[in-house]
Amino acid sequence: MTPFSHPEFDNHEQLTFFCDPDTGLRAIVAIHNSNRGPALGGCRMYPYASDEAALRDVLRLSRGMTYKSALANLDLGGGKSVIIGDPRKDKSEALLESMGRCLESLNGRYIAAEDSGTSVPDLRIMGRQTRNVAGITDHPGFDGKPSNGDPSPATAYGVFTGLQAAVRHKLGRSDLEGLTVAIQGLGNVGFRLARHLKDAGARLWVYDIQPDNLARAVDELGATPVTADEILGLPVDVVAPCALGAVFNDDSIRNLHAKVIAGAANNQLAEPHHDEMLRQRGILYAPDYAINAGGIIDIFYERHGGGPQAVRQHLDTIAHTLTEIFLRADREDLPTGHIADRLAEERFKLRNS
Ligand code: NAD
Repeated sequence: MTPFSHPEFDNHEQLTFFCDPDTGLRAIVAIHNSNRGPALGGCRMYPYASDEAALRDVLRLSRGMTYKSALANLDLGGGKSVIIGDPRKDKSEALLESMGRCLESLNGRYIAAEDSGTSVPDLRIMGRQTRNVAGITDHPGFDGKPSNGDPSPATAYGVFTGLQAAVRHKLGRSDLEGLTVAIQGLGNVGFRLARHLKDAGARLWVYDIQPDNLARAVDELGATPVTADEILGLPVDVVAPCALGAVFNDDSIRNLHAKVIAGAANNQLAEPHHDEMLRQRGILYAPDYAINAGGIIDIFYERHGGGPQAVRQHLDTIAHTLTEIFLRADREDLPTGHIADRLAEERFKLRNS
């Protein structure tokens, strides 16, 4: 492993490798940038095929968190941690407590949150050993309803308001009555987004790989079910990817008929050049890490206090940031993802300089 010459290395401030043979813990914590504040990001547990694959993931994901928090104007830096192991076989209370001690040793420079392979109860076990875990406290959510720390409702609301901003910009309309939307993925975020859209009068076409999730959207929201092959290419106003990354590639972009892309999934573009390809096709892409920042905003306030109203006000800034990105992209004839990166860099590189 060669961290400094790794293709994903981007002047990360700190990389820490942890090993505890007694519990089987092997973990890496990456702090990409802390100009804006302590690095916050998920703790992922995954059976990586190699140490190299784990390093690649933690370098890439921690950098992404710097950009996301800066663009959301949060006083947070970017970090991520990975535990190498199969969460179904290798996870134990002892291993999670050991991870908690590792986090504690970083003295608050990195704060871990739930991610794939870890849950809120897992983070609570780590929290026996450290205060440096987030997204674990029962608190009133942004809508005043009780929340157990799950950031999905805030993410879904942020995506909904960001989608409205994109529709306003691209289609020149401020109401969503009769707007046609295709949603890929009806999980924690996608289903809630579908409900917001339905309540606002939109018409929905949906697909989920899990038949139960699909049936629920059909039964409860009157959505029209379609197949995996159809969902992204439907002749609708908006496509909302809420399942997987890398869904927009040369083929799927050629087959798109929507005018707007606005969804929750992380890393939606398969390659960087797809940003420009979407611009050339006249499709407005709401950069994923800008529109799906609701979760990190929610976690920030859970940690720092402020109450539901403050969270909601901050969530509403997602739409303003997106509108700024869209206007700058038009003015400079550049793709929206490129502008989002530049805006984020302005917000974190200038701190402390
Ligand atoms: P989830 O696991 O609850 O839901 C994902 C849904 O997608 C599931 O219902 C699953 O069955 C479905 N799915 C999986 N593969 C599919 C496929 N090939 N086609 C169609 N559907 C498929 O996850 P979530 O929390 O709703 O997150 C959705 C996306 O948003 C993820 O990419 C996640 O990284 C991203 N995201 C989530 C949050 C959050 O707060 N939960 C925050 C930021 C980003």
